[in-house]
Amino acid sequence: MNFNKNLYYCCECKTIISSIEKLLFVEEKSSKGFCSESCIEDFYQPLIKYFENCEKLSRKRLNLELEDCQKSLPEKELVDTVLEAPDEIWKASNELGEETFTYIKQLNNSYGIIICKVYEETASFVLLVTQTNSFLLLSEIRFGEKIMSVTFAKSEDTNEELPPSESIELTEDDYIFMQLLENKKSKLLADLLVKRKDNDISFEEFSNFEPFFSETLENPDEVFESKDNEGDLFFNYIKSILLDNNNFYYIISCLKRKESTETNEVSVFPVLAFPTNDLELYSHFRVGKKVSGLLQN
Ligand SMILES: [Zn+2]
Repeated sequence: MNFNKNLYYCCECKTIISSIEKLLFVEEKSSKGFCSESCIEDFYQPLIKYFENCEKLSRKRLNLELEDCQKSLPEKELVDTVLEAPDEIWKASNELGEETFTYIKQLNNSYGIIICKVYEETASFVLLVTQTNSFLLLSEIRFGEKIMSVTFAKSEDTNEELPPSESIELTEDDYIFMQLLENKKSKLLADLLVKRKDNDISFEEFSNFEPFFSETLENPDEVFESKDNEGDLFFNYIKSILLDNNNFYYIISCLKRKESTETNEVSVFPVLAFPTNDLELYSHFRVGKKVSGLLQN
């Protein structure tokens, strides 16, 4: 032992580490280094509890304590799917510069959500894994600022110009619209449950059809415009798909929202998406006016 030597130690168990190369890091721009995976787990365990508790309280407040979608994928598969190709990444930093990231990906009929720490542009420690169908819960989980990718999160240190980051403030209108989406979703889902035949593609298999979601939205075979009995305008996107010699349809029912009364700009929001091999169910969604050309979604 020698006083005049760089001193490194595990910030959990305080074991002295002979060199910086032997320390394990979980967070960017942080001096927190660890001696082992188990010390990393012990150190972050209270944060896991913290986020679990946040989720529990949000779910309680929104009356979403049990959602059918919550266990639709095994946890490992869910984590891999969301982290591999997220649709959104959010970064929250505190005044100490500590960062927490949220990865969100739209799955078949739910959103997969991962809250984690990021080191060297990769998720290094997962703090929360969940799924939800609820736009309201999703809007609560989007905290911090929206970033394009974790790479941009680092570019603050350099002189590179940052891409515009969105910090979404929800307006009263957004809140009302999200409640409407929730409402429509439960209605459509209830209706689907009644109309579905036993020999149709099972709910358990839905996750296999994940890749067809964006394909159908971006490049549908047909789009039908119709009003529901509450007078709200829906667009049904339909794509016929041949997979392993089986023909099926992928259907996405979207609700239209007028963005601005001045510009007449419209956006459509997916409410329900599912695969089916039932021609009758398919015909049920081919009602109303056939729309040509692609819609902004
Ligand atoms: Zn340790």
